[in-house]
Amino acid sequence: MLKIGFGYDIHPLVPGRKLVLGGLEIPFPRGLSGHSDGDGLVHAVVDALLGATGEGDIGRLFPDSDPQTQGVASLRLLADVMARLRAGGWRVVNVDTVVVAEEPQILPHVAGMKKVLCPLLGLDEAGLGIKGKTNERFGHVGEGRAIACWAVALIEK
Ligand code: MG
Repeated sequence: MLKIGFGYDIHPLVPGRKLVLGGLEIPFPRGLSGHSDGDGLVHAVVDALLGATGEGDIGRLFPDSDPQTQGVASLRLLADVMARLRAGGWRVVNVDTVVVAEEPQILPHVAGMKKVLCPLLGLDEAGLGIKGKTNERFGHVGEGRAIACWAVALIEK
């Protein structure tokens, strides 16, 4: 059986935060705000996986009212969701993502993100797509005030 899931996330880019995206710390004067480390790319992937298994969404599993997940590395949430997925007999076939950011440039960090994310997802590097786009200066994302991420995940058992 094959199932597909879809995820989206957006976080404001604010001063005084580290920029964590795709499990990588990226040198940049601002970072993504949020209850966790703000890693919207990992959040979108988590939501795509949960959407595929039908287990709800990241907000339901890891509510931001939970002090335990305050400042948590989103990779830990992804590892937790992968453990659930495997316990259900699922494996990930492939994941594809889009990161919409006016800056920083995503492409120079894609290889590093894959190195972190592929082992967690049980994928080789061809199984994970990470594509950087700008928003052509339109809206909050285009003004560099936020980064938005989209993800699809195909799973099978
Ligand atoms: Mg989020």
